[in-house]
Amino acid sequence: MLPLVLFDIDGTLLRTRGAGRQALDVAFLALHGWADATEGVHVAGSTDDAICRDVAARFGASWGAQKSEALRAVYSTELVRLLAPPERTEVLPGVAALLDALSGRAHIALLTGNWRSGAEAKLGAAGLWERFEWGVYSEDAWERDGLVPAARLAAEARGLVVGEVIVIGDTVADVRCARAGAARVVAVETGFCSPTDLALARPDLQVTTLADGLGWVVAMVVGG
Ligand SMILES: [Mg+2]
Repeated sequence: MLPLVLFDIDGTLLRTRGAGRQALDVAFLALHGWADATEGVHVAGSTDDAICRDVAARFGASWGAQKSEALRAVYSTELVRLLAPPERTEVLPGVAALLDALSGRAHIALLTGNWRSGAEAKLGAAGLWERFEWGVYSEDAWERDGLVPAARLAAEARGLVVGEVIVIGDTVADVRCARAGAARVVAVETGFCSPTDLALARPDLQVTTLADGLGWVVAMVVGG
């Protein structure tokens, strides 16, 4: 029985210099005529479907799965276009080394508020998509707190017998969703929350980067 390590994407594995928000704005303008649609909407630690719902509320509109599906198609195409220049995507320090270190010692999966197509576009641009066999996405739970239970079910459906579950993420929302799913959590300071805010959320382990914290994270995962 191996532990299950669930990786957030934005701010944890990579950064795309706002490409996700930019692609959403393009899609909202194209399909709904809303300019600067995501302005003032909280995106870090949210899910893509929840972001859309919040954007729609800003414009006095309702939102649902069908609208998400149509928007997702435009968004994904735009995101792939924005991420074409290699310099747009930055893989964060220690990611490859940590994935190597956990290989064979833990089940690895994604836990992200991205739609699956967005996750594939971002990780594909970073050369990391092939490192993850499966994951849970915005399609699996509109609220982030539902993602760890969704990951447990997805692991079971794949026939995996999972021990402890550990979330690695960069926001207070990652710490909260880990707690909601009875998982342990590593907070990394390479993303969208200040070190102070992360510390106040009381993660089990907090590291400046996955490179600096590599030994600690591996010890936590394999040491139980
Ligand atoms: Mg993140």
